[in-house]
Amino acid sequence: MKEKINCLDLSKQHQQVKKEIFDVFEEVYDQTAFSGGRFVEEFENKFADFCNAKYSIGVNNGTSALHLALLALGVGSGDEVILPANTFIATAWAITYVGATPVFVDCKSDTWEIDATLIEDKITDKTKAIIGVHLYGQPFDIDAVQEIAKKHKLFLVEDAAQAQGAEYKGSRVGSFGDLACFSFYPGKNLGACGEAGGLTTNSLEYSKHLQSLRNHGSIVRYYHDEVGFNMRMGGLEAGSLTVKLKYLNDWNSRRKEIAKRYQNEITNPKIKMQFQPDWSNSVYHLFVVTVDDREDLIKYLNTNNIYPGLHYPVPCHLQKAYANLNYKVGDFPNSEYLASHCVSLPMYAELEENSIDNIINVLNKY
Ligand SMILES: *Cc1c(COP(=O)(O)O)cnc(C)c1O
Repeated sequence: MKEKINCLDLSKQHQQVKKEIFDVFEEVYDQTAFSGGRFVEEFENKFADFCNAKYSIGVNNGTSALHLALLALGVGSGDEVILPANTFIATAWAITYVGATPVFVDCKSDTWEIDATLIEDKITDKTKAIIGVHLYGQPFDIDAVQEIAKKHKLFLVEDAAQAQGAEYKGSRVGSFGDLACFSFYPGKNLGACGEAGGLTTNSLEYSKHLQSLRNHGSIVRYYHDEVGFNMRMGGLEAGSLTVKLKYLNDWNSRRKEIAKRYQNEITNPKIKMQFQPDWSNSVYHLFVVTVDDREDLIKYLNTNNIYPGLHYPVPCHLQKAYANLNYKVGDFPNSEYLASHCVSLPMYAELEENSIDNIINVLNKY
């Protein structure tokens, strides 16, 4: 029996950078810089440069980043925000947290990214913003969505939680929207040793406001200008991120190599893949395929000691938590198809060639 292959294995990467990260942990510890502070600022500066954005604001997780983005843009009670139905639920949570209503649209049948042609139908006089998601690490068609946002004077937020380093028409994601939101959850392409998230923007005004919002609505200590939150990034998390950011380009390149092998060498017509437009340079956070009979494929892969993932089995509009919004099966056929047919193949930078050979062989024999 071949070695067990999971969808994601974080252990190899963390062994590789353990020494460097432990050294930084020691510095953070010795300086007792546990919350905010110099290690967070250092990471923020480096991450802003990485994204070609002017400012970066570290927070405690990606969900908070989305939440604060909407607050900074003034989205609130009674407003509506448009987003794709096929995303991780946190994109929608942020809208709910600020008292606004998520308005879902379907994805395209080929790229699985938000279908810009469906957005205008959903715009009402309550619509304030559109959140596009660079799902699975592949940029959505930003120009197409931006054009609609501009025409209707709506804010555009990028949910780039899965796409650190991805490029749209040759430029890194993170500075196209009014604000971009990132997650540094351990399993993301750039993941902290702990929970973390961040935002990028070219607006000094948003940047300042976000720094206050994440820190109890305070710039000067114990003076609170507005109701704020405790959503600061921790020093240990920031230290680990600064170390890992140095390797991110290499890790993303390796993911692209693995993706290329899957795309070129999986020839079984039963397996369908995400379409990559020529303007898209994905960082393959996930490598999702679709297949007619998902349960059957998973069972088959498991018997070959391969354990794929599911991202995501239920689209947002059909989640119980949003039953009150009265969506129904059939509302968004492409998102629903994806949810019930998707399988995430193993994808992480440390996946070895012989494991990839094995995955490809097994899939071609299916
Ligand atoms: C991971 C993720 C988030 C949430 O980030 P957390 O750090 O887990 O809070 C939001 N949106 C998308 C698309 C994600 O993949």
